[in-house]
Amino acid sequence: MHTQHVELAQRRYPIHIGKGLLNRPELWLPSLRGRQVLVISDTNVAPHYLAPVAAALRSTGRQFDTLILPPGEQEKTLQRFAEALDALARLRANRDACVIALGGGVIGDLAGFAAACWMRGIDFLQIPTTLLAMVDSSVGGKTAVDLPQGKNLVGAFHQPCAVISDIDTLQTLPMRELSAGLAEVVKYGAIFDAAFLHWLEQHADALLDRQPDAIGEAIARSCQFKAEVVARDETEQGDRALLNFGHTFGHALETATDYGSLLHGEAVAIGMLMAARLSANLGRSSLADTERLRQLLIRLRLPVDRPDGPSPSQLLELMRLDKKSLSGELRLVLWRGIGHAEIVRDVPELAVREVLMR
Ligand code: ADP
Ligand code: ZN
Repeated sequence: MHTQHVELAQRRYPIHIGKGLLNRPELWLPSLRGRQVLVISDTNVAPHYLAPVAAALRSTGRQFDTLILPPGEQEKTLQRFAEALDALARLRANRDACVIALGGGVIGDLAGFAAACWMRGIDFLQIPTTLLAMVDSSVGGKTAVDLPQGKNLVGAFHQPCAVISDIDTLQTLPMRELSAGLAEVVKYGAIFDAAFLHWLEQHADALLDRQPDAIGEAIARSCQFKAEVVARDETEQGDRALLNFGHTFGHALETATDYGSLLHGEAVAIGMLMAARLSANLGRSSLADTERLRQLLIRLRLPVDRPDGPSPSQLLELMRLDKKSLSGELRLVLWRGIGHAEIVRDVPELAVREVLMR
């Protein structure tokens, strides 16, 4: 088992990564301060993984309730958030109550936001069950729900008291979701560490096979990268922005396709390649590095070409609206090559259009 610690100005919390952790409640029961617990999950996850969590809570005589939502991003709404608050009210949850998120990023965001708001903030325990949530959304404390006007428009920073990533839960994850999570893993190598990207090239098949050693290592390294950045920059003033490599392009693709055809990680894969091509076209990096990234993404069964449909102008417009591009200026995360991302301001529009065409 790997244990990483996230060190923040105010506090420190552990991320446990390994096999069989759901059956080791001694890892997380001690972080529950009070007697009241609300477990939030979805209908794909609960049938597989709720039982051991509920059994552990029952064995300690805790008072708990469960809220099992339908799956999917379209459920990350204010209405579902209100249901979570209703459930906490029914529990008569005190300040020392805890919300447990058992599921992917959708459940984590929603449960975390409910925990952030109930009585101005109660404890929150994350049990992520998707690779994406294990390597990305469960680290860093961002919580939110969507509005019809846009994703993640209402939210808060609220750090969990612990994260339990049981890699056995990934055995039931659909293949496409696994690959989408791997896109964010590749991102860490692309922006921070050429040696890690090389390791991913060597272990691509093992990762697709869900071999526990490879998967555990990939998650632990990813959490380490993310935890380090978050510790340096908890509220995203500075280099946490590097984590948006591929994301301004990716978000535009997701929005333009109405979130229907592309998973987030898939959009990020295409977006990272656009960022790499743009960097090469601007003379900042080599074409060889772009090609290496492309080959790795293909091996991990990720899309690398943009979907037909949205026009370059439409995508460009969406990129300008992206909250990361301050004041409509095209401020993008580009790279100098594998392992070296950088923020570039005032990227020429023509150069961006060129990579949006193909
Ligand atoms: P994210 O990719 O942001 O973590 P979701 O929370 O939407 O997103 O999870 C993606 C999908 O995978 C959802 O349909 C969810 O119900 C399902 N899911 C999550 N974890 C598992 C799992 N361990 N096994 C099977 N399906 C899962
Ligand atoms: Zn992402």
